[in-house]
Amino acid sequence: MIIVAWLGKIGVVLKKKTARRLRRIVALSLFVCACILLVISGKLLLFPSVKEEPPKRIEVFDRYWLRLQEKIDWLAKQRESKSAKDFLWLSKRTLDLRPLSSKTVFLTFDDGPSGTTPRILDVLKANGVKATFFTLGLQVDDMPSIVRRTLKEGHCVLSHGYSHRYDLYNDPPKFFEDIDRSMASIMKATSEKPPSYVRLPGGANNQYPRKKPFDECKKGLLNRGISYVEWNASMDDSTFRKHTKNYMIENVLLKAKANSFIVVLMHDSAGKGLTASALPEVIKGLKDMGFVFRTFSNLSDAEKKRMLSLKLINR
Ligand SMILES: [Zn+2]
Repeated sequence: MIIVAWLGKIGVVLKKKTARRLRRIVALSLFVCACILLVISGKLLLFPSVKEEPPKRIEVFDRYWLRLQEKIDWLAKQRESKSAKDFLWLSKRTLDLRPLSSKTVFLTFDDGPSGTTPRILDVLKANGVKATFFTLGLQVDDMPSIVRRTLKEGHCVLSHGYSHRYDLYNDPPKFFEDIDRSMASIMKATSEKPPSYVRLPGGANNQYPRKKPFDECKKGLLNRGISYVEWNASMDDSTFRKHTKNYMIENVLLKAKANSFIVVLMHDSAGKGLTASALPEVIKGLKDMGFVFRTFSNLSDAEKKRMLSLKLINR
């Protein structure tokens, strides 16, 4: 009897010990699960927009398309023979079928040409990238040789109007006179008709003009087959506030981290030396992220569709 009672006591003690152990195991498991959940949710909250690096295979394709683009640009300058013309037409059609690069950037400069433009051209040349320049007609008339150099070095030269006057938006016929005059200035300087893209002074979201005539100006451009180009990244170099070089670089690179397709707004007007000195680091940062540099000279169908969907043209 004594032995049975003794064994019973041992059983109770063992049961208590097992229950305690079980409680500990359950508490520990709950703690580990909570930690895992915290880490996962923290990662999602802190780094929502960081995207994976593009696979190497796409980079090879990008290089192929870039080479084809260079060939077309070269051919466009040798227009005499019929076979060159035929090849050019075929190549352009092929280029239209180009898939979107995994990461695409359009560097754009407004308000030039000026004394700053050659500095910017030097930086672009040293880094082997092409850009788009939205020029002002009155500046083009003043410095046609810089515009010729810009085009000769493979960049795209487009119109940003002749006089950069916001009040013209309230008078559509005068606005179109200004646009036509700027196109004529580019043609006079380069002997080439610029592609059908412009950037509106102050952008399509300009709050200065009255809505009705401004809408008329934008609609009139589309009726003429001219698209107006916006931006979704900026060096923030147009304001009167003086920003530091690092701020300007970060302003672009942060947008590039969050978006795989960007049009960057910068300025090459007089006094924009800081833009020129920030540019090498911007280009390096974009290259490190795997961006492919494009211009508006030969926009593919896919790129145009992407621009429309992102409201980067014809907003
Ligand atoms: Zn401007």
